[in-house]
Amino acid sequence: MSNTSTATATCPECEGNVPVADVEKGEIVQCPDCGAELEVRATDPVALQLAPEEEEDWGE
Ligand SMILES: [Zn+2]
Repeated sequence: MSNTSTATATCPECEGNVPVADVEKGEIVQCPDCGAELEVRATDPVALQLAPEEEEDWGE
């Protein structure tokens, strides 16, 4: 239940290991390998997704 100290997830961009100990759903973490910003989509298990670019309007 509390074995989170060594938790890592796979970066969807470069497949590197991203430390995800103590992250929360919706949090943005940065890949130490490629620098991509990754959104935590789930925490059990941790699933990462590339965070959308910071643009106000991504309508059509
Ligand atoms: Zn990466």
